[in-house]
Amino acid sequence: MRALIIGVGQCGTKIADLFALVDFEALAINTSKSDLDYLKHIPRERRILIGESLTGGKGVNANPVLGREAMKRDLSMIMKKINSMVGYSDVDIFFLTFGFGGGTGAGGAPVLAEALKEEYPDSLVVAIGALPLKEEGIRPTINAAITIDKLSKVADSIIAIDNNKLKESGEDITRAYEKINHTIVERIASLLALIDIPGEQTLDSSDLKFVLNAFGSFATVGYAKAEANKVRNLSRLILKSFENEGLYLEANIESALYGLVAIHGPPELLKARDIFEALSYLTKKIKGKQIFRGFYPDPREKEIEVVTLLTGIYESKSIEDIVIIAKQYAQSFIKAKEEAETKKKELLTGLPDFDDIYP
Ligand code: GDP
Repeated sequence: MRALIIGVGQCGTKIADLFALVDFEALAINTSKSDLDYLKHIPRERRILIGESLTGGKGVNANPVLGREAMKRDLSMIMKKINSMVGYSDVDIFFLTFGFGGGTGAGGAPVLAEALKEEYPDSLVVAIGALPLKEEGIRPTINAAITIDKLSKVADSIIAIDNNKLKESGEDITRAYEKINHTIVERIASLLALIDIPGEQTLDSSDLKFVLNAFGSFATVGYAKAEANKVRNLSRLILKSFENEGLYLEANIESALYGLVAIHGPPELLKARDIFEALSYLTKKIKGKQIFRGFYPDPREKEIEVVTLLTGIYESKSIEDIVIIAKQYAQSFIKAKEEAETKKKELLTGLPDFDDIYP
């Protein structure tokens, strides 16, 4: 299984940098030179500055229209770089990481996703994006709504991470982002590490690709972990990984099409009966009625870890909130603009031509 991680913008490149730390092939793209310099693990030759002619390397100031333009202007240079990284062996999945509420990532990621789909039709393009915090105000929400719309037409799946859900109240924002980024990478990296491991009931890349090939709908990752000697009921732990508190997104899991579960732990505790009990309950619960599973007995392991992927989700409060707020804002903005135009007309109609006053 070969995954290539491409981070776009500040949030996206920070997340991609953490993937590089755990040995994934990663590329960083940004309009801000200083943000690229700040990365630690992606090698310098894999950090690409775009839109220099547009912004002079100073970023796009959270404007996705400029982010889109920067990506378009330098797209051929980027695709050449990606081509050279890909080389002669196929990439199964391109993961694009970014923040939905900013400019470079929000504007650039959909342009890059479209170009990748065209150039590599057999690979999947999966977006991994952080949704803005409510307290950030209206602009990031609008940027997110625009990007949700554009990506849903080009990406195969969108793994949306709701910062609101993962940030604890009162927590410092920089620390919260750091923690959220680690959580994202830990979960996704541990799932990817389990794909294509030889074994009797393991997951392979075709299972993962089947599940993620979900026509631009939303996906989420769940997780549950416990010390092996404290797990009395494995079935319960598996169900926990699908519960709302374990997921990245407020979502109705019953609206999901596909699921995938990887269970890793000491062999004597991975009891088939418990696993099948949980999985048959969950399979009945989701709309698409298909859950792929992988068991990874490991005698050295002292913990049981369950990673879950749910895809094809179309009912999510996190997403609906953003789209509804953006729509309401657009409607009230258009109304306010019309009212201002009318007022202006009313005020100025009948005003004579004063040219005569200044002969
Ligand atoms: P860009 O560089 O113009 O693409 O903008 P950013 O990447 O800074 O995107 C800003 C949005 O991403 C904001 O709405 C934040 O909520 C979110 N964000 C910024 N940095 C981080 C981060 O490190 N982690 C997470 N999870 N979200 C972030």
